[in-house]
Amino acid sequence: MAALQPVRGTHDLLPDEARRHRHVEERAFAITSLYGFGEIVTPIFEFTDVFARTLGDTSDIVTKEMYTFTDKGGDSLTLRPEGTAGVCRAFISGGLAQHLPLKLFYRGPMFRHERPQKGRLRQFHQVGVELLGVEKPDADVEVIAMARHLLDDLGIGSHTTLEMNTLGDVESREAYRKELVAYLSDHLGGLSEDSRNRLAKNPLRILDSKDDGDRKIVANAPLLSQHLNEASRDFFAKVQEGLNALDVPFSVNERLVRGLDYYGHTAFEFTTTALGSQGTVLAGGRYDTLISTMGGPQTPGIGWAAGVERLSMLSAELGQQMEPPPRPVALLPMGEAAQRHALKLSGQLRRLGIAVEMGYSGNLGKRMKRADKARASTAVILGDDELAKGVATVRDLDSGSQEEVALEALVSRLRGK
Ligand code: ATP
Ligand code: MG
Repeated sequence: MAALQPVRGTHDLLPDEARRHRHVEERAFAITSLYGFGEIVTPIFEFTDVFARTLGDTSDIVTKEMYTFTDKGGDSLTLRPEGTAGVCRAFISGGLAQHLPLKLFYRGPMFRHERPQKGRLRQFHQVGVELLGVEKPDADVEVIAMARHLLDDLGIGSHTTLEMNTLGDVESREAYRKELVAYLSDHLGGLSEDSRNRLAKNPLRILDSKDDGDRKIVANAPLLSQHLNEASRDFFAKVQEGLNALDVPFSVNERLVRGLDYYGHTAFEFTTTALGSQGTVLAGGRYDTLISTMGGPQTPGIGWAAGVERLSMLSAELGQQMEPPPRPVALLPMGEAAQRHALKLSGQLRRLGIAVEMGYSGNLGKRMKRADKARASTAVILGDDELAKGVATVRDLDSGSQEEVALEALVSRLRGK
């Protein structure tokens, strides 16, 4: 019976790890706020169609990775594998088109049935942004610069590199698609089964294949850049100019296509070599046709998502220190009357915002050890006879010096610490 094991690909975050995880989320929230983004919280599950119709029925997510179930009412529901589709669904169902442009931030768990390994989980967490309603390349520049700002803020910016590509507009992609299909059809025998399946529906995805045989064929495939119309070339040039002006370094990778169907124009990824093979920490792109494909008003969009576990692992691996939680005061009551007094005192202190570690049992030596372990700054030793005298012993745990303090002066004395 495996019932007492965590489900494969899920992970418990114990306090130290959870703190790092929250730190990443909090910084992402804080940095994106500086750019005018506000938080949107959408449900963890949606009707399956929300994902199936938008991500594309040849995407890895839809073909292999979704946690889909029929609920008791007979509806097909899916645990969200990513954030964009749900945000766009909320945009449409909430009639938010009159509030454009919209800048939205989200965070939370995502679910994909993948082969678990380091940096690849079945329940993982993302922070992400969507900027809706701006078709100009300025939006791409701002959103990418913001990603860079976040990585820098987390102290991992210099260990990541930005790769970018353009997938062009619909016209450019159509022209390219024809030529790519012609080329790949000539090499059909060498393609993997997945890629053969994608040839008719989504040949661009084959460029992204991790299969060795596919890669060899793809290496000589015609390039999208040769099929870009002027508008698409101009758009990409403006994005690059903007990033250069902001000193955001990048390289163009013409093989970069994102795994989802809805991207056009800008696609980008921040990767690191410090995490082994799961090196993509943040990725995104422009999706001007997604919302209209879902049945909403034609609305351009651009966004990115980052894996919180990967960001958090990278920051830990690079030795980035978290700000420690506040140091507590340790209360060490020795005796019953002292214990009652300490309980009251602990309540007062905590309501003043002072963390308190209560040392309930064991001899003084043991309690002192526990106070040290809790990183207490000060220990307050309260014995019954001290209590009778109306005093407590306050010991500075860093210097070791101690003094007697009158009980009525105790709170203000500890507060001043
Ligand atoms: P990959 O190529 O690693 O599978 P992806 O293209 O599927 O990534 P996206 O859908 O773009 O990833 O998700 C954005 C980010 O979310 C990724 O860059 C990564 O940091 C994180 N991520 C994606 N899938 C997982 C997973 N299974 N476990 C942990 N993090 C993940
Ligand atoms: Mg994936």
